[in-house]
Amino acid sequence: MSTLRFKALETLPFKDFRRDNSVEVPAKLSELFCQNVFSEETMREYLTKEAFQSILDAMKKGSKIQRHIADQVAVAMKDWAMSKGVTHYTHWFQPLTGSTAEKHDSFFTPIEGGRAIERFSGNLLIQQEPDASSFPNGGIRNTFEARGYTAWDPTSPAFIMGTTLCIPSIFISYTGETLDYKAPLLRALNAVDEAATNVMQYFDKNVTKVTPTLGWEQEYFLVDSALYQSRPDLVLTGKTLLGHSPAKGQQLDDHYFGSIPTRVMNFMKELEIECMKLGIPVTTRHNEVAPNQFELAPMFEEVNVAVDHNSLLMDIMARIAHRHHFHILFHEKPFAGVNGSGKHNNWSLATDTGENLLSPGKNPKKNLQFLTFFVNTIKAVHEYADLLRASISSASNDHRLGANEAPPAIISVFIGSQLFRVLEELEKVTEGKLSPDEKTDLKLNVVGKIPEILLDNTDRNRTSPFAFTGNKFEIRAVGSSANCAESMTVMNTIAAKQLGDFKKEVDALIETGLKKDEAIFNVLREYIKQCKNIMFEGDGYSDDWAKEAKKRGLNNLKTTPEALKQEMDKKFVDLYEEMGIFTHREVEARNEIKLEKYSTVIDIEARVLSDIARNHIIPSALNYQNRLIENVKGLKEIFGDKEFKTLAKEQMSLITNISENISKIKLGVEGLMKAREAAKAVSDSQKQAENYCNKVKPLFDGIREASDDLEMMVDDELWPMTKYREMLFTK
Ligand code: ADP
Ligand code: MG
Repeated sequence: MSTLRFKALETLPFKDFRRDNSVEVPAKLSELFCQNVFSEETMREYLTKEAFQSILDAMKKGSKIQRHIADQVAVAMKDWAMSKGVTHYTHWFQPLTGSTAEKHDSFFTPIEGGRAIERFSGNLLIQQEPDASSFPNGGIRNTFEARGYTAWDPTSPAFIMGTTLCIPSIFISYTGETLDYKAPLLRALNAVDEAATNVMQYFDKNVTKVTPTLGWEQEYFLVDSALYQSRPDLVLTGKTLLGHSPAKGQQLDDHYFGSIPTRVMNFMKELEIECMKLGIPVTTRHNEVAPNQFELAPMFEEVNVAVDHNSLLMDIMARIAHRHHFHILFHEKPFAGVNGSGKHNNWSLATDTGENLLSPGKNPKKNLQFLTFFVNTIKAVHEYADLLRASISSASNDHRLGANEAPPAIISVFIGSQLFRVLEELEKVTEGKLSPDEKTDLKLNVVGKIPEILLDNTDRNRTSPFAFTGNKFEIRAVGSSANCAESMTVMNTIAAKQLGDFKKEVDALIETGLKKDEAIFNVLREYIKQCKNIMFEGDGYSDDWAKEAKKRGLNNLKTTPEALKQEMDKKFVDLYEEMGIFTHREVEARNEIKLEKYSTVIDIEARVLSDIARNHIIPSALNYQNRLIENVKGLKEIFGDKEFKTLAKEQMSLITNISENISKIKLGVEGLMKAREAAKAVSDSQKQAENYCNKVKPLFDGIREASDDLEMMVDDELWPMTKYREMLFTK
């Protein structure tokens, strides 16, 4: 008897404590909002006027915080935190490992005379020194200083987790190279602020700051924690490497928007309470397409805060799931045969005058403003599509992109047929000066019509990786396990670059004597012409699109190594340098880290698959085969040589079949191990990743097929691996 699986199944939900973890939600959830956040409100209460103003300036204008102010803030933070039972503090940052990092230090400080006090100073608030060598650095460590430090990011508020005060921070090497997700993001946000604010001077001189906004939608799976523990592949790789799909999958679509199981509901309720306290404004929750798959989405926020909130959320989701005896899976494709998980990133630009720049306005002037940002965004994606593709690449997201359930790896833009027609009209604008008639026509019939159009524009193309959804763009190909910062850094960098170029081009035309509006129309017309090939309104999942895209000259970078190779294109490296986001060395280091991570992931999967196949699958199959052999022998004994042949026919064919599959697995594993050794020996990271992708990964399939076949043959009682139907349908 394969004990782990059955022990896990026994502890299952039938036990009451797993279900009765009921959670009371206070009637007014809003009263909990930001309870554990050093929010503006709290700061106003705890800080002197001077310190408060200084923090606000740092948050809104990026101005420097002076030492004596930092001291005041530190003391205020400590007092506030201690009033809530906090004993420790940590710089909370997002290294390139993909998860968040913390190193807790106590406020407790011994002083002379055997006494002690609680102390926290400006020094400790501003800068700390974790051991940089234990985080990925892509070789920066070898060539530069080994040490790194974390630095307080005052634009994202401090918060309390348990009994620890967490201070959002960036992570950089001593020589100034960024070693995390946030530092480059902050640079990109500054760049787009500057570029968009400049462009806004054409439309509204009151605008002095433009802040990008992000609303993410997080998908995830929940699996009972006992069942999770019983699957070594889930534990070690975050996904199942084997497993026959259940008779019932998602064919009936009955899970989507169906009622949420009680146990899951309790998890969600507790999560929402925690989110409220931490200031994460979650609003929607529902089931997703696949069984045991769910989604959570907040109100959108400033990108920087939204990114922190998503990282924080993933962290607390995992903790709260455990309290409800669930394990949460953020892997993009934990189960074959059912949908994977993504993380849609809704992106827009907001002004300090309260406008959404991707929202059409009430008059033609506002709509020209809308069209300007709208077309420039499309142009940015057109120019830098491959960079956007690279920013969402990972071994786990490769399973999802292009698998008929998520957008393909081809980057295209969906804007809806009505807006598409508006752009076609704009494409016809006369070159140079416009006649008064044309101007009126444009105002009334093209630009003036946009709000009406959008009101009844219910187009929702779910197959596009980059879709306009009424007042924002939605990047739909981001993986569920990704840190949003990566795609957001690219998105804001390319928008900044594009808006900067646009400003130059329009100004140049104004110089030649064109009116401002004429100049804008002229530049937009050219952009639309150039970008047409990336606009696609049809079914992104279809094979026809892949063919059509090829004709249009769009790249289809199906795998991570392909995407990462493209990332090192001179055009992109230059862009990063020009925009002040990364130095050449930093781009290289990050590219290297991602390649290494890719190879490591596939390597681990290969080893885990081989171990399971050899140590669990083959022995179980042999075990069952022995039973069959006993049976056949018995039949022979009882019925004699002749008659037994008819009677034991099916058993004998099963015996042969099992042997064939065992041999497929054995040879498959031997081949896989050889390929893996060969890939491991390649020293160039790009080539190594390509090796893992093209020579190692494809060998998984044969082993899995043989094992999944055996799963259908072997007595259920002898099968060692917890089955899909058990993991996916237990509530
Ligand atoms: P759906 O796209 O599913 O129909 P919504 O339009 O309400 O739903 O928005 C989905 C997501 O878009 C939410 O997470 C929301 O926070 C985000 N969102 C809405 N407006 C903006 C905006 N201006 N900037 C960024 N994200 C936004
Ligand atoms: Mg959506």
